[in-house]
Amino acid sequence: MITKLLIANRGEIACRVIKTARRMGIATVAVHSDADTAALHVEMADEAVRIGPAPAADSYLNMDAILEAAKTTGADAVHPGYGFLSENPACVEAVEKAGLVFVGPTADAIRAMGLKDAAKALMEKAGVPVVPGYHGDNQNADFLAGEADQIGYPVLIKARAGGGGKGMRKVERAGDFHAALESCRREAQNAFGDDAVLIEKYVTAPRHIEVQVFGDAYGDVVHLYERDCSLQRRHQKVIEEAPAPGMTGEVRAAMTGAAVRAAKTIGYQGAGTVEFIVDGSGPLRPDGFWFMEMNTRLQVEHPVTEAVTGVDLVEWQLRVAAGEPLPKNQDEIALCGHAFEARLYAEDPSHNFLPQTGQLAHLGFGDARVDTGVRSGDAITPYYDPMIAKLIAHGETRDEALGRLRAALAGTHVAGTVTNRAFLLALAGHDGFAAGHVDTGLIDRDLDTLTAVPEPPDLAVALAAIAALNLDPADPRLGWRLWGEASHQVRLMHGDTPIERRLTLNGPGNVTLDGEPPLRLDGLKRDVTTVGGSSGSPSFNAGLVRYRAAGTPHVSVLLDGASHDFAIPDPLAGDGDAGASGDAVTAPMTGIIRLIDVEAGQAVSAGDRLAVVEAMKMEHPLTAPRDGVVAAIHGAPGSAVEGGAVLIAFEPDDP
Ligand code: ADP
Repeated sequence: MITKLLIANRGEIACRVIKTARRMGIATVAVHSDADTAALHVEMADEAVRIGPAPAADSYLNMDAILEAAKTTGADAVHPGYGFLSENPACVEAVEKAGLVFVGPTADAIRAMGLKDAAKALMEKAGVPVVPGYHGDNQNADFLAGEADQIGYPVLIKARAGGGGKGMRKVERAGDFHAALESCRREAQNAFGDDAVLIEKYVTAPRHIEVQVFGDAYGDVVHLYERDCSLQRRHQKVIEEAPAPGMTGEVRAAMTGAAVRAAKTIGYQGAGTVEFIVDGSGPLRPDGFWFMEMNTRLQVEHPVTEAVTGVDLVEWQLRVAAGEPLPKNQDEIALCGHAFEARLYAEDPSHNFLPQTGQLAHLGFGDARVDTGVRSGDAITPYYDPMIAKLIAHGETRDEALGRLRAALAGTHVAGTVTNRAFLLALAGHDGFAAGHVDTGLIDRDLDTLTAVPEPPDLAVALAAIAALNLDPADPRLGWRLWGEASHQVRLMHGDTPIERRLTLNGPGNVTLDGEPPLRLDGLKRDVTTVGGSSGSPSFNAGLVRYRAAGTPHVSVLLDGASHDFAIPDPLAGDGDAGASGDAVTAPMTGIIRLIDVEAGQAVSAGDRLAVVEAMKMEHPLTAPRDGVVAAIHGAPGSAVEGGAVLIAFEPDDP
């Protein structure tokens, strides 16, 4: 029996685990960093313990602090969530040594699957098909190049310690092999402290299909069907679904059989996922899938499986960890309908999906299961993954479920940061995807269309202009009071596009832009979502949310199921930003300074790297805009920097 559970995680997954624990009558303990003192998971848990400063290395990865928190609160079990310590065998051992239950597999099972090369060798022995390739110990570059020749191009070089899409290079021809190997090794060494690689045949038109498995302490293993996670961008999953489009009984039997065999081979206990790369160039075949790796934890996309099986996977995790047998046997697990999950992120699709930060001035979701760890008013900080929420839609058929996902995305509004919502909506409306023609290259092939930012409609511009003038579109006196100055030149920024329009207030509820046909505002209150600015920012009763981001006022206009975001530039600020003028280099986003390459007084040339800022797991090098001399450096490695803040100032160019 588990009576008190410590959740060694944050964000949506911590909240998700707390919900089930509470339903089961298990007391919950949250842990949090200084950045998360007021976070949702802290509020939801029965108790909360601070475990360190904001950087994950000092808090959510701080095993000693977490074990101390378990001890002082009297918790008897630890749920690791995903990420952070979830696949760290040393953590499992430390938890068990402290006399606590680790909600997950044994340390040995994690170790067996921890390195891709050893896992592949093990699976080969167990009769699980693996991708043809070399996964041995010889790391000599020429030897590996020879193996690549034998496998046949294109090949994939993979860091054996890799994860999260890092440490992978596709190589098209032999001439590129050595350079790709070198850069893959460098990345692997930096990210994982291990530069060993394996070489795999690159599967063309690949699909990613994974099988959810579950084992208990008595050697029983069941599967809970498959998930198709082929919609990826840079090897990161974007929309997942279950079951896989085009799946047949025969292929499913082969894949789930292989997955169960894989789990049994390592005596697997708890929730796990066996990932397969699948030949998607034609219909699915029983001999057209190969083991890639096993994730020894609960996956981000587990809710799609819950939606189609009716099983609460966290409940099963807690029961199995407490020593109970699997709650259902294989025959009792039925597949019901179809489900999708979309990952809503604070990121900017029109700028290469650059992670974003910001305070969520407004957060509202459409009709779906929503797994989130944030509320209106909360901040997306640079310290952790910028995921805002997962939207999960279920239907009896794939079409019905996809329609519901679209509706849920259309009804979702976020103000205060840039998100991938419009991109997800475009993807959910993609013809090929709707037809079930998925493969991991789909997003990249149609990236331009999927990330196109549509021009805002005039009505949205008019509302934003009214907000920029500090007027209230719901005010019945709008346009009357101001008879002396009824016409205004307004400047707004929509993404990178400046908008200059002349707004004329013709009378109550009636405005024109540049003398075009009048726009009616009086009917608007009924048409537009009413939102409340819960972070103290004033908001109008007309789908307008005003907020500040990177020091600049913004307004988000929510109109007809779309949000349009505008920055309201300071009319006195002038045009040039400091970065472009050449006298200063500014941080492109809020993040952590990782490196400063220069010192005050140092001469640099245009293009030299000056510093590296890290935000949400990605590194952003800052380079010198011109030849010059560094005058001052504001900030030091390890410290946080605000987006737009001057990091490095140059001596003026003029002698
Ligand atoms: P990670 O552990 O970093 O997530 P995986 O081994 O799970 O790495 O692979 C991630 C993704 O990379 C897969 O979902 C797939 O899109 C692509 N991929 C991996 N192996 C191959 C391969 N042999 N051929 C083609 N694509 C592959």
